[in-house]
Amino acid sequence: MTGKLWIVGLGPGAADLQAPRATAALAAATDLVGYGTYLDRVPPHAGQARHPSDNREELARAHHALSLAAAGRCTALVSSGDAGVFAMASAVWEAVENGDAQWRRLDIEVVPGISAMFAAAARIGAPLGHDFCAISLSDNLKPWDLVAKRLNAAASAGFVVALYNPLSRARPWQLGAAFVLLRSLLPGSTHVAFATAVSCPDERIDITTLEQADPARADMRTLVLIGSMATRRIEGPDSSPWLYSPRWCAA
Ligand code: SAH
Repeated sequence: MTGKLWIVGLGPGAADLQAPRATAALAAATDLVGYGTYLDRVPPHAGQARHPSDNREELARAHHALSLAAAGRCTALVSSGDAGVFAMASAVWEAVENGDAQWRRLDIEVVPGISAMFAAAARIGAPLGHDFCAISLSDNLKPWDLVAKRLNAAASAGFVVALYNPLSRARPWQLGAAFVLLRSLLPGSTHVAFATAVSCPDERIDITTLEQADPARADMRTLVLIGSMATRRIEGPDSSPWLYSPRWCAA
């Protein structure tokens, strides 16, 4: 088999936050596969075929990309942020594990990208400077009970928590439910950041507290960061504060 499959993370949005290796793979590919909105971020290259798809159907998209590579095409499958964080890389490996035995012999390369939590953290200060975790609030692929259990465990253990997929039109209540749960475990003064469309022209960052946090502030392009007891706030210029988590942590 002479084809190739790159699984490419495009970063959070800004072109200069995309890795040069990702840019090179996207330029070399004969075929691009991905959610249409993400494919629109890739500049056109002459002779390249584009296969945009709906945001759902991840496994079908993975099959499509693998089939193209198996047919000898040099295919790039794109995700936003990092392709391995709540994104397409896992769907590809799941398809490889359960699919055509030939796919295991394909040349598959995952090209890392800057995940939303890192882009957001960099804009806010250094909130991920100590132990942290990432939780997707989407209950499309796991039951809400499990989301609640993990939120509970993470907050109780003192992790900073990066919340992906906080809500969407089809999932309007999950972030509100998460705040109710977190307020029962953490002080109302716990720092919370809403980071929307980080690195894009319509970027918006708001820093508040758990007590004040309004779920309606978030949308599907928002990363919500919940501080730990150790996370600190410094007042910055123009009343825009910084958040950081110190390198040390008491017991
Ligand atoms: N693979 C992606 C995450 C996909 S899940 C990554 O590594 O970033 C989609 C979620 O990511 C969104 O609901 C939102 O929570 C977050 N997200 C993606 N891009 C973002 C951006 N530019 N700003 C803020 N959050 C973003």
